[in-house]
Amino acid sequence: MAAAIEARSDVKGWCPGVLRPMQSGDGLIVRVRPRTGVFSLDEARALADLAERLGNGHIDLTRRANLQIRGLEEEALAELQAELGRLGLVDSDAETEAVRNVMVAPLAGVGSDVRRIAIAVEALLAGDRRLLDLPTKFGLSIDDGGPVSIAGERADICLRAVGKNFAVGLDTREGTRWLGACAPDAAVTVVSTVMHAFLDCAPHRRLRDLAGVDQARVQAAVSPLLSKLPSFETTGGRVLGLVQGGAGIAAPFGRLEAIQLHRLADLAATAGARELRLSPWRTLYMAVRDDAAGRALLDGAETIGLIVRDDDPILRIEACPGAPDCTSSSVDARGDARRMARLASAKGFTGSIHVSGCAKGCARSAPSDLVLVGNAGRYQVIRHATTRGPVERLVDADDLESIFSEAFCG
Ligand code: SF4
Repeated sequence: MAAAIEARSDVKGWCPGVLRPMQSGDGLIVRVRPRTGVFSLDEARALADLAERLGNGHIDLTRRANLQIRGLEEEALAELQAELGRLGLVDSDAETEAVRNVMVAPLAGVGSDVRRIAIAVEALLAGDRRLLDLPTKFGLSIDDGGPVSIAGERADICLRAVGKNFAVGLDTREGTRWLGACAPDAAVTVVSTVMHAFLDCAPHRRLRDLAGVDQARVQAAVSPLLSKLPSFETTGGRVLGLVQGGAGIAAPFGRLEAIQLHRLADLAATAGARELRLSPWRTLYMAVRDDAAGRALLDGAETIGLIVRDDDPILRIEACPGAPDCTSSSVDARGDARRMARLASAKGFTGSIHVSGCAKGCARSAPSDLVLVGNAGRYQVIRHATTRGPVERLVDADDLESIFSEAFCG
């Protein structure tokens, strides 16, 4: 393990990992990728303890269904890596870790086709050395087609259960293009074929960047492996509260404190859960014993500051950490986002809001109804666009209420 450990804290722009952390304003960020999308409750407690003891206690849930420990000093990194290695959460090398980007439907059962395929795909990524050439943002989603479906989330390769088979979708500039279906036992061959065909093309960062001959080449490689696709609807998405034998619980802006994660694991155990399952909505799911146990879990989660209702106004707001966690920011994006949530509720503003510490827009790449972008201690106000949209005006951080003036909202 020690020989394989590589600290790249000097490099910005990487997706951080355990073996390749990223420097941020509050220290090193270490991203821990759960295996097949789940942490056991013991793993969750251990992660909380490590975040408290070696980091600054802040834990982020990411939009790619991973968990980040923040605020590490360089001197604490080796110990963290060793502890995570003992938990089996470290890959053999940084390159293998970087390509293990597999999102799994959070309520897919243990032993289900979805979980079996996820295990096999992770083994494929660890065993096929050519796949280490995949771009680090190249990712896969495996969905069960249930009420908490992740099939609507963008991934380079999407597998989605349809009856006894899996629909196969590839990302394009226009969104997922569903090409056909395959049996569960053929899914890994399909995934491998797409990945190799992508690598045979000129280098690109994502599958959706391919066009023309390259795009046709990838589709031609995989199409012979696929059968006709029955019609299906891509529904689902984030659901909080009780849902199909489970409970969905969100963290405000995806931020958990170590003590919250520890207590959530204890509450989940009492409710009969064995795992915390991560999702791309920065929401955790737990399979519970029954509805009564689920309700008790939700009540407990609410008392420790987590979100258990779909109508919570915080959910309409995306916000990156901002200052002081991120050195690119001059504003306290999350603190101001909380104020924006209260103001939006009070003013009856029901649109989506994105508060970003800078124009990079880490928290959300899609447009929002109202966007605030930190700039030299103030906010640029943008509407119906991304952080790169046209700026309507500048407001001071202590004058956010003026954004909801009648003239502006109209
Ligand atoms: S959007 Fe800017 S300020 Fe926010 S986390 Fe990303 S780089 Fe940092």
